[in-house]
Amino acid sequence: MDNKKGSYESLKLILKDQPRYRLKQVQEALFDEKINSWNQVLTLPGTLREKLTESIPWMSLSASEIQEDHQEGVFKALLKLQSGSNIESVLMKNKKGVWTLCLSAQVGCAMGCAFCATGAMGWKEDLSTEEIIDQYRFWKHWMKENKIEPSRISNLVFMGMGEPLANYKNIKESLNLLLDNTDIGPLHITVSTVGVIPMLNQILDDNDWPNVRIAISLHSADSETRKSIIKSSYDNFHQELLDWSREYEKVLGNRRHHITLEYLLLGGITDTPEQAQKLARFANKISNVKVNLIPFNTTPNSPFHSTNEETVEKFLQTLTQHGVKATVRRSKGQNIDAACGQLATKNSK
Ligand code: SAH
Ligand code: SF4
Repeated sequence: MDNKKGSYESLKLILKDQPRYRLKQVQEALFDEKINSWNQVLTLPGTLREKLTESIPWMSLSASEIQEDHQEGVFKALLKLQSGSNIESVLMKNKKGVWTLCLSAQVGCAMGCAFCATGAMGWKEDLSTEEIIDQYRFWKHWMKENKIEPSRISNLVFMGMGEPLANYKNIKESLNLLLDNTDIGPLHITVSTVGVIPMLNQILDDNDWPNVRIAISLHSADSETRKSIIKSSYDNFHQELLDWSREYEKVLGNRRHHITLEYLLLGGITDTPEQAQKLARFANKISNVKVNLIPFNTTPNSPFHSTNEETVEKFLQTLTQHGVKATVRRSKGQNIDAACGQLATKNSK
């Protein structure tokens, strides 16, 4: 897959003839919130600073709009790329007062899941490496300017717009840059995927793929039901996922490295007692697994409806009775349409 090449590629080209440590110096500067332009990167020679100023933007995106819900601790930014497209990125504080950043991987998405606002946009473009890392850099600078405390972003989740594994190369490069240049460890980064099996297999063969957490959006253990809501699903998906999970256990799994199955509760479709039983049976075939139940967040003109509290509790009970570890995601950000699946932008081109 030929992912979009952006200015990080040009940056590497410019530094190709420089001593190897220059690239490291540049990376350190990019992740230093005290530095706001190439001119301030005093570790680099003046001529190189000038060249970089001429050819590489210091930040590849800018905020068109920021919505703030201080009470909930949720901030959503509409970020404009150089192409003119916009993406959304959400910063949220959990109960422990720790910040999680939800990152986008693409503008729109080709996977066409029927319940997702991003899916309704269709695929527009892949994000380049710097557009992915700049979502983190953007928020770090913004938190500093706005004196937001604590200033540390502790967790990253690729659960914003788009399918991360459909932008494999750039996501991988970004993950490695984030791991090398921030204090966030691999167990605090989660890549959520609709389950692109060839790409999941590639992870197992790829020594450069970092050992971050993987969450699979399962949403139904029943093939027909899954196909009816996820356009990219197919008959043999569940068996292929089981085969993959066994390999994953062998190659990357350890006690702290479970697979997460995300499960969207759609009223009358995926939240029935029968679906709960099927999910329990499926989950029990994977040795180290946790289920994360996601209540449906409404999207414009959606035919779906959410599940009431009682049904959520019953569904959870069925799973725990069968010995499946499960939690419910209490999502934030509904007030500003910043919850999972609600992210969609108009092109300003
Ligand atoms: N493309 C990836 C990651 C982005 S979506 C994926 O599909 O996993 C992140 C999560 O939000 C996925 O589990 C997705 O199924 C879920 N989601 C999408 N639309 C939603 C909605 N309307 N309400 C709740 N969750 C939704
Ligand atoms: Fe794409 Fe994920 Fe939305 Fe499906 S749920 S359309 S894979 S972003």
